[in-house]
Amino acid sequence: MNLKNNFTGKIFSTVSRIAHETGCEAYAVGGFVRDLLLQRECKDVDIVVTGSGIDFAEKSAEAMGLKKVVVYENFGTALLKTDDLDIEFVGARKESYRGDSRKPEVESGTIEDDRNRRDFTINALSVSLNRQNFGELVDPFNGLDDLEKKIIRTPLNPDITFSDDPLRMMRAIRFAAQLEFTIERTTFQAIIKNRERINIVSKERISDELNKIVLSSHPSSGFRLLMDTGLLHIFFQQLAALKGVEEIEGKGHKDNFYHTLKVLDNVAAVSDDLWLRWAALLHDIAKPLTKKFDPVEGWTFHNHEFRGAKMVKHIFRQLRLPLNEKMRYVEKLVLLHLRPIVLASEEVTDSAVRRLLTDAGDDVDDLMILCQADITSKNEIKVNRYIRNLKIVKEKLKEVEEKDRLRNFQPPISGELIMQTFNLQPCKTVGIIKEAIREAILDGTIHNEYEEAYGFMLKKGGELGLKARN
Ligand code: ATP
Ligand code: MG
Repeated sequence: MNLKNNFTGKIFSTVSRIAHETGCEAYAVGGFVRDLLLQRECKDVDIVVTGSGIDFAEKSAEAMGLKKVVVYENFGTALLKTDDLDIEFVGARKESYRGDSRKPEVESGTIEDDRNRRDFTINALSVSLNRQNFGELVDPFNGLDDLEKKIIRTPLNPDITFSDDPLRMMRAIRFAAQLEFTIERTTFQAIIKNRERINIVSKERISDELNKIVLSSHPSSGFRLLMDTGLLHIFFQQLAALKGVEEIEGKGHKDNFYHTLKVLDNVAAVSDDLWLRWAALLHDIAKPLTKKFDPVEGWTFHNHEFRGAKMVKHIFRQLRLPLNEKMRYVEKLVLLHLRPIVLASEEVTDSAVRRLLTDAGDDVDDLMILCQADITSKNEIKVNRYIRNLKIVKEKLKEVEEKDRLRNFQPPISGELIMQTFNLQPCKTVGIIKEAIREAILDGTIHNEYEEAYGFMLKKGGELGLKARN
């Protein structure tokens, strides 16, 4: 197969010329070739050359009048950015691993050595950029066949491939999820066999792959594979613990792992936001901790939203996810995930809607997405009722918001003003008055505006025996 029509850019002809002049070999390899054949968009090209990748990148940049070459000495690679593509050059290498080491011994090698160290047959496809066969597809492991059959398979013995670099087990699952491929049987068995070796991989590398799974179009397929291979238990025990159904007196509860995956897929169908997807993944995370059987109520998970929100930080730390406002956003959604549905099952009062709005702030729309996604009952009548009621909540939210502008609510009267008015030093009474104003606004006793709030403050102060200054 010749793909030269897909390599018409100036960068490729430049690479071809430099390869010719320097007597090196050069191939486009990996994800770019795979995605080209799958007709998936890809902006990152990996080019492997014999000799030094860095030298080759610098020569290419010079020939094209490009200034920007980013050199990664440690990895022996160099990145060159053109308008539409990011091109990474790497020298062909050979890797050898020792049993307990995370880091391979790397030495330069032939193009063939380099193909042998690739993780999957579909990632070992390359396209020649050499003059004599420019554009020719090189497919040493029948990767094309696997692409057609949608199969993830290692080029060499999977036991060795996975034992050498155990991150490849995560990558296998990530590609299966991203591309909607199946992992071939021996490759799959080898993941099960080598799973404990994931412990030698850094948490950051694991989470990079995990996030790619979370961002795929049906993330549940990746999490099922993580569960079925036993990898999930090793690095994300809390999520794995959601699986299973207990039965007492003939009463069971739903399997919270598969429920969570359904919620995640539901969110993924309407949002690409990584952190909203994480909120879906963690919304019920404390259910195993809070599970109780009550002879009257049946299975309960009281306070799982509070306990769950408290677990978020620990999980983020464990997985080396950022401990910043993204984490706080996930905490907040986990904490509030039941609120809209509880609201929807009662009479929807303005006051309850106002409280939801002030607690959720700008994240209220995301909260509604999560809440809607959380409806996974098989009982159609129940589902329809929930959806209808949620719709009412949404309408009410809009109405109240237009009326009261309560998102990111700040009461119109400050503590300063209360102190000035009643000639007070900072003290408990100031807080009491401030809170009373806030409550009055949320209850709808007064509007969210200065005049009414000021009047309310004077009244409240009077009740507390305070005198306003003139
Ligand atoms: P994407 O960029 O969409 O994540 P990709 O296949 O390009 O997918 P990269 O991580 O960019 O993945 O790696 C580029 C290529 O390098 C891969 O296609 C594969 O051939 C090789 N590769 C990357 N990581 C490994 C690894 N851990 N073991 C073996 N080969 C790898
Ligand atoms: Mg890539």
